[in-house]
Amino acid sequence: MDFVKALSTDNLTAIKAAPKTDVHSHAFLSTRRENTERWLGYPLTKPPLKMKGLEGMMEYVNAVLAPHLEHRQGFEFIAASAIDDAVQDGVVLLEMSFDIRLLKFYPDGLTELRSFIEMLVERYREKVDLRPELGFARECANDPKWMKSAHEAIELDIFQSMDLYSHQEACAPEAVQSLYAKARAAEMKLKAHVGEFGGAEEVRRTVKVLDLDEVQHGIGAAESTEVMQWLSGNQIRLNVCPTSNVMLDGVSELAAHPIRVLFDNGVPVTINTDDLMIFGQSVSEEYRNLYQAGVFSAEELNDIRHASLTVLS
Ligand SMILES: [Zn+2]
Repeated sequence: MDFVKALSTDNLTAIKAAPKTDVHSHAFLSTRRENTERWLGYPLTKPPLKMKGLEGMMEYVNAVLAPHLEHRQGFEFIAASAIDDAVQDGVVLLEMSFDIRLLKFYPDGLTELRSFIEMLVERYREKVDLRPELGFARECANDPKWMKSAHEAIELDIFQSMDLYSHQEACAPEAVQSLYAKARAAEMKLKAHVGEFGGAEEVRRTVKVLDLDEVQHGIGAAESTEVMQWLSGNQIRLNVCPTSNVMLDGVSELAAHPIRVLFDNGVPVTINTDDLMIFGQSVSEEYRNLYQAGVFSAEELNDIRHASLTVLS
């Protein structure tokens, strides 16, 4: 069955069977909560349906998830289980970000973390194109230790892309400019979280300062026709996570998601999971939700899916 028919007849099995990408996924929270509960042997409190931005999300993570998972075994279970989830969902290209602070789980440092990541890439090679991404939290920009580790991580030649995230106020893009320049010189794809909660101009400014190829979220760009035209003209892609945006209250409800406005203004978009453990919707489910909420037609969603796959060629 083709993807358009699968969406219009609400055949989730067929939606999952179609090849898709997930290019906005954070390894530490990337498998379903249910898998984690099975592994732990006990249930975890569900997240609220609405949280107050990143602060609200971190409150939930720190109170409910971190106490059970904040160790090497927890992380390694989640990362492998997340790849299984992605494979079952029909994801054929997975750009998964590994936070530099994961090093705290590895006494032997980067070489030990690299071995684990290389093992994952190798283990799943037949099933999915796993492209490890180096993740850097904005609050680490002021910490020479993490900055040094991130520089060294780029030299490892295992990370294919670079991402920056957490509170936009924690550091200006200029603070990581040299790190990004190094990643560029290493031919890594450059991404950063910006515009998750508004701020069209900051989206454009961050793209310029860091020479970004793509933006994680970036939905605040929809506030400015001029910024959307600029993104469209420069073919800067936004890797959007609709359920994340709704649950963290950057968007009131799915039907009102600005991905529609961005798409109509020619901005390239993809559809992704962000943190499956919290937001609970696979890429296939995100496609289905957008269709059922009337945001896109089945044909438009199929076009978005096809466009996301062209990076493979
Ligand atoms: Zn994210």
